[in-house]
Amino acid sequence: AAKRKGKGGFKFFDSALQQAALDRLRIEEGLIQALERDELRLHYQPIVNLNTEKVVSYEALIRWEHPESGLLSPDKFIAIAEESGILLHMGYWAINQACLLIKNTAYLGNARFGVAVNLSPRQFTDAELVPTIERFIENYEIDAKYLEVEVTETALMDCLDEACATLDKLRAMGINVAIDDFGTGYSSLSLLKRLPVDKLKIDRSFIMDLETDEVGRKIVGTLISMAHTLELTVVAEGIETPSQCAILQSLGCEQGQGYFFSKPKSIEHYYEGLP
Ligand code: C2E
Ligand code: MG
Ligand code: MG
Ligand code: MG
Repeated sequence: AAKRKGKGGFKFFDSALQQAALDRLRIEEGLIQALERDELRLHYQPIVNLNTEKVVSYEALIRWEHPESGLLSPDKFIAIAEESGILLHMGYWAINQACLLIKNTAYLGNARFGVAVNLSPRQFTDAELVPTIERFIENYEIDAKYLEVEVTETALMDCLDEACATLDKLRAMGINVAIDDFGTGYSSLSLLKRLPVDKLKIDRSFIMDLETDEVGRKIVGTLISMAHTLELTVVAEGIETPSQCAILQSLGCEQGQGYFFSKPKSIEHYYEGLP
């Protein structure tokens, strides 16, 4: 610090940039503590069958109960966690929580539903991923078919062969695989054909203006029939209005998720209604 002071380097250091770097460092340090202090939460958002409106699964979405700032959403910390490597630990924590939920609901004798967890590219290429998930499933004695993983197109494209090998192993265990945010990446039809996945989640950006955009509606219709040709289940993300829901139903989309049905909510919320 003395050396920097001597040179007067601080004058040239953009203060906004400096602040950003400090914020980042603080988040990074905070995240390590978040794991130790049990400040991470998963909120669950239902995915419903669009014909029956019954819940088929829940997507687990991570939150950070920050001691000072309150509940932080993933866009505030996921990217930083990913770059610093902490996300790997957070990711295993999340998968463990999801498996526990599957175990608990089986124990409660509830109507069974799936639980979906998001995997980042970094998690996806971790050699421990498959054996760790395998261990969770064995230890909790849960049926793997209730566990689902979501990966983005871009994450897959980054390391296609390796990614496909991992997906093959997960699917061989009975786990369902979904492509998240579909339509925002660059995967071609021929590539999609080769991907070992079960589900395709159409990104919210396609759903947003379904009511007003004729061309957009046709594109979504095409995506749905293409997915069906490949024998994939289709989920529409970010449904907010009854008319978006109706349009998707008419286009043959089988599942949907969005504020129209429910926002993501804490697990306590779901247990409240139980005896
Ligand atoms: P995603 O997996 O595509 O999750 C959907 C996001 O859309 C969630 O944001 C959800 O709260 C939001 N959403 C759902 N329905 C609606 C709607 O009707 N309208 C609008 N405007 N938004 C809706 P969230 O929870 O902030 O998560 C953002 C992203 O962070 C996720 O996108 C996922 O990529 C990532 N993420 C979340 N949890 C985890 C995790 O445990 N691990 C990893 N690696 N990534 C995670
Ligand atoms: Mg997702
Ligand atoms: Mg998504
Ligand atoms: Mg997303």
